[in-house]
This record gives sequence, C-alpha cells and structure tokens, in this order.
Amino acid sequence: MLVKSKTPLFQRFYLVEIVKGLAITMKQMLFGKKVTIQYPEERRNYSERFRGMHYIKATNGVENCTACMLCPTVCPAECIHIEAGERPDKEKYPVKFEIDVLRCCFCGMCEEACPKDAIKLSTIYEMSQQKRTVYDKDFLLEQRGNK
Ligand code: SF4
Ligand code: SF4
Repeated sequence: MLVKSKTPLFQRFYLVEIVKGLAITMKQMLFGKKVTIQYPEERRNYSERFRGMHYIKATNGVENCTACMLCPTVCPAECIHIEAGERPDKEKYPVKFEIDVLRCCFCGMCEEACPKDAIKLSTIYEMSQQKRTVYDKDFLLEQRGNK
C-alpha cells in the first residue's frame, strides 16, 4: 500500500535548501575569512616542533652518530637501516645509514631516542620534489644546513 508523503511539494524539490546553501557559499566567498594561500609565493608558518625531513648533525665534519642502534630499535616503521663500522679516532660510526621515507611516519621517536643528538627532523616539508625515497648518509648529512 502506498503511503502519501506529508512533505509539501516545494520542499520535495529541495529548492529552499539549494537557495540556502548558495547563500551560505556566497556569504563565505564575499565576507568569509581567507583560508587558502598562494603557495609557493605565500607560505604558512609552521611550529618549530613540526617534524619534516630528517638530517644528521655533524661536528667538525664528522657525523655525531656512533651507530648505537637505538634509533632503528625504537623506530615503529622499521625504516632505519644502519651498518656500523669502526675507525681509530672514534669507537663506532655508521658506514651505512639509510632511512626509507616511504615507510616513515614522522613520529620523531628516532630523534627522541638518540643519545648523541645526531638524527634530527627538520621543519622542511617539501619532500615531494625529492626523486629519492631512501635517504642515505651523504644526503642526510647534506640536509643539516637546510633546517
Ligand atoms: S620519524 Fe619515526 S618512523 Fe620515521 S624514521 Fe624516525 S622513528 Fe622511524
Ligand atoms: S642516530 Fe643516534 S640513536 Fe641512531 S644510531 Fe646514531 S647515535 Fe644511535
């Protein structure tokens, strides 16, 4: 058995709602707060605590990292791969240090765990232009100037 709708005909075509919606859109367009920016000419100010591209700190041209393996141990994404080596002036150093950024979730736990203040996350967020998906040691050392 068919039940007759109690909604008036003009409401069933949603005309009032469409006009109301358009009025809200026009109000926002003409008098609303600007929420978009003209990137890349304009840039947002991100917090100093923003976690972006990684880099390795160095002192006198030598990386601070002593290949203690704490960062790959705490990394929840298991995306840090280090091969340790030894040299006379320093007990250990990373022969190979790689971060697979496709797996990284930028949690910052590697930075928190590092006892040597070696692995850091910068505020750089423009990483899509990088062709590489694995950051090796040389690249990570190069980035220390671009915090
Ligand atoms: S930021 Fe997090 S996920 Fe990325 S390398 Fe560091 S510990 Fe791993
Ligand atoms: S970056 Fe820090 S935590 Fe990671 S291996 Fe080097 S010294 Fe250890």
